Amino acid sequence: LNFGEFILNKIQENRDKIALINGSTHEQLTYGEIAQEAMNIAISLGRMGIKKGDVIAVSSENRREFWSSIIGIVCSGAVATTINIGYTNDELKHVCGIAKPKFIFLSPLAYKTHAKIYKALPYLKKIIIFGDDRLPNTILYKDIALPNNGGVNDKKEGYRLTENIKYEDFTPADVDTNNDTLFILYSSGTTGLPKGVMITHLNVITLCSPSTPIPTLKGLSITPWYHTMGLVSTLAGFTKGSTTVYLPKFDVDLYLKTVEKYQISQLTVVPAALIALCKCKLTYDTSSVLMVFCGAAPLYEETAKAVRERFPSVQAVLQGYGMTETTLAITLNFNPDKIGSVGTVISHTVVKVVNPETREVLGPNQEGEICVKSVMVMKGYIGKDRKEDFDDEGFLRTGDIGYYDEEQYFYIVDRLKELIKYKAYQVPPAEIEALLLRHPGIREAGVVGAPHPTAGEVPIAFVALQPGYNLTEKDIQDFVAEKLSNPKHLRGGVRFIDEIPKNQTGKMLRRELRKMVKTKKS
Ligand code: ATP
Ligand code: MG
Repeated sequence: LNFGEFILNKIQENRDKIALINGSTHEQLTYGEIAQEAMNIAISLGRMGIKKGDVIAVSSENRREFWSSIIGIVCSGAVATTINIGYTNDELKHVCGIAKPKFIFLSPLAYKTHAKIYKALPYLKKIIIFGDDRLPNTILYKDIALPNNGGVNDKKEGYRLTENIKYEDFTPADVDTNNDTLFILYSSGTTGLPKGVMITHLNVITLCSPSTPIPTLKGLSITPWYHTMGLVSTLAGFTKGSTTVYLPKFDVDLYLKTVEKYQISQLTVVPAALIALCKCKLTYDTSSVLMVFCGAAPLYEETAKAVRERFPSVQAVLQGYGMTETTLAITLNFNPDKIGSVGTVISHTVVKVVNPETREVLGPNQEGEICVKSVMVMKGYIGKDRKEDFDDEGFLRTGDIGYYDEEQYFYIVDRLKELIKYKAYQVPPAEIEALLLRHPGIREAGVVGAPHPTAGEVPIAFVALQPGYNLTEKDIQDFVAEKLSNPKHLRGGVRFIDEIPKNQTGKMLRRELRKMVKTKKS
């Protein structure tokens, strides 16, 4: 079974159920409708000359056509690559250069934003734009051929994929489930330029299988679907026949209103969004919420506690740890007594912690690099030798520092690359940040190493204050000095800023802070 067959089977089983609801327009789509659109697209792509292994990109804000395009591409035998609509021009050129898509599906917004760049890509043969027109089981697509690049079929009026192929008459293209690439996804670009991650059919089928405990209740989705957290968790929900309500962007008021209106039972969010939800005083009935699924960045104890106060009906605040390279999560925490932990290792997966220098395997409570071997780990990065990122035993080096306790619960300390090298010590900035956030006067905090002539690096904090608080640099340095060991003291000082730079997933961009360190005073 390849992923196309797998997902089509699953969505056919639930064909009369509601798959997607747009929380702001209230438009609904059944699984049957998605399946129909996807099959029509797959057939059309075949007629347009798409062959097994060709790459087709999709770039869109979260909207309904995203899913029929993705599933259609997959069923045509092509590889789907999802492109962040918010990329800068340089990032966009970089990721397109990695996957070299032949066709691209764009929302009108994505077209408006990036048409110029797409039209200049030599390998891109066709741009297909989602229409705004809605008919049962059809989408109006406008097809912009790129004649200079050998494109064909320039239909200015657009065309409708109305042929309505019957499910019984349709077979997704044959591929090698174990080895063929299903998706090319990009890492978030937190530490550098995004990397092109090759995810196989088997990776995603395993993730969606019943033995993998990904929660799939009636969910409210605001995480962008181009990123693995939105993409794969929504697909997992599809395979269980659950309903996903989505919103085009994160707005606290609309979000909570939608929870009330649609009786949402699962919130899938990044910590930054959770913090915003917990801080807001709006009163909506959110008693339908049973589960909060959180990942992508550290979830601090305070936030996890605040979630329970804000949403008393919640039975589990589930923290997951994973990366684009591992399809979704490799650890999950279901245990409310282990607050702060990212949980235990999920099925089909082995994790070891090693000394980053000697590669010696470490035991409980010893910090080292987390390495993972799993049916859900990527095939590799495009254009990069596997040897650079996998060890001799086939474990992926995550680049994250962490440890596990006696009960096999994992804790993430920080990214290896971002440890501050103070004299002979390796200081994890995340630990200092977590402490700073406990101060009632501090709203946001980011810590990096500032170059120092004798010590190598010293920790410097960037802090955004809570309105109404007037803290000095010394206040904050003293607060840290009282609670943390000597190497973690803020010898590099404190700088006050309005907001910590973050990427679209809400992850702090310490590389931006390091740039700010280089410019004298911010
Ligand atoms: P890039 O690799 O391009 O620099 P990125 O690593 O942020 O970007 P993703 O694949 O989206 O790209 O994120 C995976 C990383 O996010 C992990 O390696 C880890 O550092 C961090 N992360 C994920 N989940 C958690 C978590 N629960 N707690 C702490 N950190 C997490
Ligand atoms: Mg990464």
